[in-house]
Amino acid sequence: MPKIIHYRDKCIGCGVCFEMQPELWRMSKKDGKATLLHAVVKKNIHILPLNNSFEITGREVVKACPVNIIKIQ
Ligand code: SF4
Repeated sequence: MPKIIHYRDKCIGCGVCFEMQPELWRMSKKDGKATLLHAVVKKNIHILPLNNSFEITGREVVKACPVNIIKIQ
């Protein structure tokens, strides 16, 4: 199963990921950055197995992030 990987530290809080895929993202009221819901955090990298039903939009989100900090592997 592919995984979505978010380098959260580098997030600039533009909100595009949340606007495109609110099922997977929230904007933190605490620090203004995006949070990948239900992700496991390893060494400050947020990782979530990507269900098939979210993959097509997920790949669009990867392309749309202006600082290129979301990957799918
Ligand atoms: S699109 Fe990228 S920079 Fe913008 S809020 Fe989401 S992760 Fe952060």
